[in-house]
Amino acid sequence: QVPLKPGRSLMDWIRLTKSGKDMTGLKGRVIEVTEDELARHNKKEDCWICIRGFVYNVTPYMEYHPGGEDELMKAAGADGTDLFDQVHRWVNYESMLKECLVGRMAVKPIAAPKEFSSTLSEEKKKLNGMRPEKKVLGASAKDLTPSYDWFQTESLVTVVIYTKQKGMNAELVIVDCEDKQLRGEIIVDDYSYLVEVDLDRAVQEDITVNITEKVGKVEIILKKKDNINWKMLGQPLESHNTFIKRTDRGLSYRKCKLVSKTEVTHDTKLLCLMLPKSTHLRVPTGQHVYLKQIVAGTEVVKPYTPVLPFLMLDFKETPHHDGAHIYLMIKIYSCGLFTQALDNLQIGDYISVSNPEGNFKKSQIQTSEDLFLLAAGTGFTPMVKLLNFALTEVSCLRTVKLIFFNKTEDDILWRNQLEQLALKDERFEVQFVLSEPTKDWVGKQGKISSSLLSEFVKRSRKDFKVLICICGPTPFTEQGVQYLKDLGYSQEEIHAFTA
Ligand code: FAD
Ligand code: NAD
Repeated sequence: QVPLKPGRSLMDWIRLTKSGKDMTGLKGRVIEVTEDELARHNKKEDCWICIRGFVYNVTPYMEYHPGGEDELMKAAGADGTDLFDQVHRWVNYESMLKECLVGRMAVKPIAAPKEFSSTLSEEKKKLNGMRPEKKVLGASAKDLTPSYDWFQTESLVTVVIYTKQKGMNAELVIVDCEDKQLRGEIIVDDYSYLVEVDLDRAVQEDITVNITEKVGKVEIILKKKDNINWKMLGQPLESHNTFIKRTDRGLSYRKCKLVSKTEVTHDTKLLCLMLPKSTHLRVPTGQHVYLKQIVAGTEVVKPYTPVLPFLMLDFKETPHHDGAHIYLMIKIYSCGLFTQALDNLQIGDYISVSNPEGNFKKSQIQTSEDLFLLAAGTGFTPMVKLLNFALTEVSCLRTVKLIFFNKTEDDILWRNQLEQLALKDERFEVQFVLSEPTKDWVGKQGKISSSLLSEFVKRSRKDFKVLICICGPTPFTEQGVQYLKDLGYSQEEIHAFTA
């Protein structure tokens, strides 16, 4: 992210696109673009980019791009699909850039290689216009491809997915069934298997998902609306029965109801969203979801990390911790485009919530003896489920230390709960560090630094395995990772939460 000039926020961009200004220089015409034509528009002041076969004039957008002009220029006059997918495939560019649409590619573009890397090779700049080609799986992977079957009784229809995976669990199964459209996604490592069908007949709203962990069998049980014999399960939809890389599968959304909104601090709220009865979704520890709303007529998407209703470990007894609710701890920025709109939501209103994403793996903690959590501001959110998981389910852990950076005492999220937890569990310790403390603050002061980290992040024993998780504003995370490396911690010992 780069700092944007004043007057170049997302809201300013939305205003500009709605102003009626000719954003393409084509006076509203949409043209067919050849590869040569595309390549000619490769300068800042005349920059076209192709994303999934559609060409956009991004010159007017340059100063509004949160990633900066240089990032956009990497795909100037070329295909930016891979670059876009690597950085933020969740951003709805169709909506954001619709006024900048120049047209479609005239020729069927050449598919670029699929593997992602952090730097875009020349080869990747080749056009791959349409959606990336599905990866052709090798023979061994084919054997692992899940399969499905279905059967019915008078009142029920059961779709059975044989995942061929041991250790299948509720977090790996995402099911939605709305308006006769059944979508069942199974996560198998980095791959995604999808059953996507327009059902033969209507079903009731509530669905049941049963998982047999040992053999990896997933049953989706649907209740028929009418007790009539179905001739078939339904019509397959576009991605039905496909097994592709997770990163190639588009995000899917469902509308969730806002059921409560409570204050955590002066500017941060805990929102409770209720999933529809027709959805089965559990957000794994360390992962985030995307929220989508229409703001000033444009679809805007932002990531948020679900937390628990509260920290104390007896939470299993609490209502609403049943998988049907998602809790989000969100800081409302006074000039924040998305959070202001979120804050205006009333109890009973709906908001779209995506499938979970993120690359944190629980196994990273399961093999550690010392766990250090470095959080700044709302960077605390991934630490909530992580803490809970670590202290309730990881028996090999000896110490769990949270170093929590905030501006002032009033900004500390769940301070009381954290202090209670430290009293309750002797393995857990919390340290607050303030960057803008008042005179009375007797605790630690300052921002993240090498000396602070060398004081707090120490292996309890030389032979102990350590994991350090870090999350906060990008400069905080980047500096923190660098200091940790300078202190001798390896890449494998550090997990940084980023977008
Ligand atoms: P914008 O309109 O984008 O910005 C307006 C102003 O708000 C800025 O000028 C700045 O002053 C301030 N501001 C906005 N964003 C930031 C920022 N990131 N850091 C510092 N100041 C900022 N936020 C949560 O509150 N809870 C979460 O659980 C959470 N999870 C996240 C998970 C991931 C993976 C990522 C990448 C971000 C997460 N965020 C979370 C941040 C969130 O996605 C938004 O960036 C944030 O809510 C601001 O959006 P906005 O549209 O209101 O602000
Ligand atoms: P904030 O502005 O209140 O700052 C909290 C603390 O962060 C400060 O006291 C300071 O110690 C540190 N800090 C802030 N800016 C810094 C800088 N430039 N260099 C070094 N340290 C700095 O924080 P906030 O408004 O709550 O923002 C939290 C951030 O965490 C947001 O940027 C959000 O996007 C990010 N976040 C990321 C994830 C994720 O998974 N990637 C999840 C949640 C939040």
